[in-house]
Amino acid sequence: MKLKHQFVEFMPDVIQEGVIYISLEYKSVIHRCACGCGKEVNTPLHPTGWKILYDGESISLKPSVGNWSFDCKSHYWIANNKVEWSMKWSDDTIREVRAFEDFEREEYYKNKDSENIDDDFSDSEELPKSNSKKMSWFENLIFWK
Ligand SMILES: [Zn+2]
Repeated sequence: MKLKHQFVEFMPDVIQEGVIYISLEYKSVIHRCACGCGKEVNTPLHPTGWKILYDGESISLKPSVGNWSFDCKSHYWIANNKVEWSMKWSDDTIREVRAFEDFEREEYYKNKDSENIDDDFSDSEELPKSNSKKMSWFENLIFWK
């Protein structure tokens, strides 16, 4: 599932499905639960709360979104505007995830190459984290084989 991000000053009255609204002014990020239940998810930006990573094209939100207080109890990551589910994976989802993982791996190495060329781009804070996350994806893949 692909989301769109939108930088706003004030949160709109109507939070559209599939859009992540980011107000740097009010340090808040709001989107509708990615499971489709329609609940609004508020992930305030704070040193001990959520953080966004904006690469100029897409945003990532850390840590993961865990909607434990909702009926759906959904739990997912938003990385590069994509929703990555953390559990309750159906066979279809696993297939999608595998395809996504292949794509992600290609993108990762593509990005890695371009990072080597563009030395000014320093991402030492984020890289170890995404590497360790990649590892768990690989582990998951191995598990399902
Ligand atoms: Zn939900």
